[in-house]
Amino acid sequence: MVHKITVAIDGPAGAGKSTVSKQVANELGYLYIDTGAMYRAVTWYVLQQNIALTNKKAIAALLPQIDLHMEASKMGLCVAVNGIDVTQAIRKADVTAAVSEVAAVKAVRIFLVEQQRQMAKAGGVILDGRDIGSVVLPKADLKIYLTASVETRAKRRWLEIKDKEKSLSLDAIKKSVEERDYKDMHRDESPLVCVPDAVVVDSSTYSFEETVQKIKQLIIDKEGKNA
Ligand code: C5P
Repeated sequence: MVHKITVAIDGPAGAGKSTVSKQVANELGYLYIDTGAMYRAVTWYVLQQNIALTNKKAIAALLPQIDLHMEASKMGLCVAVNGIDVTQAIRKADVTAAVSEVAAVKAVRIFLVEQQRQMAKAGGVILDGRDIGSVVLPKADLKIYLTASVETRAKRRWLEIKDKEKSLSLDAIKKSVEERDYKDMHRDESPLVCVPDAVVVDSSTYSFEETVQKIKQLIIDKEGKNA
């Protein structure tokens, strides 16, 4: 019997963490948890309430009102806040522009990290985010730092959204990716770091399938060792 493990995948914006993790999880029968979607959902709620992003106290005060629900479906991951389906809304440019600010608030991180640890408790999970290997699951069986050049990441994101958000140019996306990386890497609370025990996968020259294969193999090798 396969001994399923706990996998942490961290990396900068647009490295393909969520699409790759979702596919790998499907193929290997793991539960996939997109922690970025959780920060996006909280950000969506903060924007709904018209709270200034600089008002950390007010953001923290909103948290007890937020009932976050994540469910994997055939269509992909569904995210709901207080019963409202926000799956599409959390991918929009307004949420993307604000999320790093909200994710830097300590109370928000405490609120979500606790939920992420609960979801990961049973094992057989792949969590992707920025602080999974460093903070959420420091004892994860396998830690992967998935990255790619900023040009590659911006281009991939642009190809993904160009039909839905026609006003966004490749240049604007590159700028937004760089800004988000800077904020995520330089915040006081759980900044994005590549922990020393992570396996670095640079997907700049890989296709989606090649990246999936590479990560699948890392998991399978580790499962064997932990069996
Ligand atoms: O992964 P995604 O790009 O959807 O993440 C959105 C944002 O959520 C990141 O830019 C980061 O600010 C925040 N995030 C985080 N910690 C995580 C996952 C995401 O701070 N574990």
